[in-house]
Amino acid sequence: KPKAIVIGAGIAGIASAIRLSVKGYEVDIFEANSKPGGKLAEIKMNGFRFDAGPSLFTMPQYVDELFKLAGKNPEDYFEYQKLKEICRYFYEDGLRLNASADLDKFAKEIEEKTDSTAKEVERYLNKSQTIYEATHRVFLERSLHKIKSYLHWDTLKSIFRFGQIDAFRTQAKANRSFFKDDRIAQLFNRYATYNGSDPYQAPATLNIIPHFEYHYGAFLPKNGMYSIVAALVKLAEELGIRFHYNQKVEEIIYSNERKPEVQGVKVNDKIYKADVVVSNLDIWFTYKNLLKNIAQPKKLLNQERSSSALIFYWGMDGNYSDMGLHNIFFTEDYQKEFNAIWKDKTISSDPTVYINISAKHIRGDAPAGSENWFVMINVPANNGQNWDVLIKEARTNIIKKISRLLNRNIEKDIICEQILDPRSIESKTGSYQGALYGNSSNNQFSAFLRHPNFSSKIKNLFFCGGSVHPGGGIPLALLSAKIIDDEIH
Ligand code: FAD
Repeated sequence: KPKAIVIGAGIAGIASAIRLSVKGYEVDIFEANSKPGGKLAEIKMNGFRFDAGPSLFTMPQYVDELFKLAGKNPEDYFEYQKLKEICRYFYEDGLRLNASADLDKFAKEIEEKTDSTAKEVERYLNKSQTIYEATHRVFLERSLHKIKSYLHWDTLKSIFRFGQIDAFRTQAKANRSFFKDDRIAQLFNRYATYNGSDPYQAPATLNIIPHFEYHYGAFLPKNGMYSIVAALVKLAEELGIRFHYNQKVEEIIYSNERKPEVQGVKVNDKIYKADVVVSNLDIWFTYKNLLKNIAQPKKLLNQERSSSALIFYWGMDGNYSDMGLHNIFFTEDYQKEFNAIWKDKTISSDPTVYINISAKHIRGDAPAGSENWFVMINVPANNGQNWDVLIKEARTNIIKKISRLLNRNIEKDIICEQILDPRSIESKTGSYQGALYGNSSNNQFSAFLRHPNFSSKIKNLFFCGGSVHPGGGIPLALLSAKIIDDEIH
């Protein structure tokens, strides 16, 4: 059997391993941590369970596909439900919106409570769909870096539609033209943060993102986000894939010829041979630490990083009936918040706060009468800011804001706490500067400035995960594994 080694057991690494195994490879995964999952991790504390990273699950079909490829029924491994309510939005002026997955209902609510109309919502989401149709084959599902990708008829059709992808104005500008009410423009501007970008700089092409939620739906695994990892690891182990935990890869080994070929990896000074190597690490660290003697693609590596996050995991004594699974508490001045993050590299005094409470659906995630709050704000990638001071200030501002908008003193309900910040995101998951999604998508060329899924210098070396093409987030990370699958014969 040919041998493959995958470096890193993040979601894309596990997906790549499954695909290679199905292709007939004998696969070993080396993972630096003691557990699989990378950014998809969980925390247990005082009877509470938290998903530490991703909380929103979209495009579950990309996970199902892996089970089907292996000839298994996905439902035998993990279950998920389609959410009826996508998110609850809270504004400083008292406006509250409960975004229903039933679009007509949501559009009607917007029409009733704001100056925007149902028609505006419909026009906006139609545009979102057009962008999806014009881009997904080229930008998401194929390598942008191989001529053969452009020779498909559906790719060519997409290229003819490029005029429709709204790449030449910012998302915020486009959304101002779609919506009379600034608060609705703000609601849809937030989607830029799904890949760690700034709606005031990023192209309106990012308006593709709501299509995933409003057309395909938002989902929740029955046992929480970490059960996606657990299910995929179970499948991988059944396929005979070997996981080696606490094994940090030190180097990728390749032959010394004019056209080098990959030979394996070095772990704890020992060499493990392989015909194919897939790196699931942040591409920045792959070059910096594992491929020291090869020319670095400086332009790609030096792109602006995506934003990072500051998260408080709070065990809350009490139930909050105003809140749902996903909740957003908006700042009054969104541009000021993004200027603080992107221009001043700091945290605004009134940040938009996202709170996820999985216990609203998964009762076992919190003891009776209490709730598990995942409280997150967007923050800049780590450039050596004084995080301890920033975290203290942010904590005070968040508590004041949520207490104000819920009209209830939340601080007294916090019974236990853990914190994740850009520094710990980098040390725990190997993500350079703690960026959540690799590079930012703050300009219209970003899609072309992500590293391809293969090495043009070393034969049979591939790259998957949120820092390379097609981008960050679970669905795109899974697509990177699929593109590699298409490239390996
Ligand atoms: P990663 O998760 O980055 O894993 C890489 C793995 O490589 C790690 O396990 C690491 O330990 C290992 N590694 C590093 N160096 C070495 C080495 N030298 N040797 C061996 N192993 C090594 N996405 C969504 O879709 N929805 C969300 O709601 C969402 N929210 C998020 C919230 C937070 C707080 C975070 C952090 C991320 C969020 N994301 C979300 C993004 C999503 O988590 C990532 O895009 C995705 O999980 C990245 O997976 P990956 O395959 O790139 O690997």
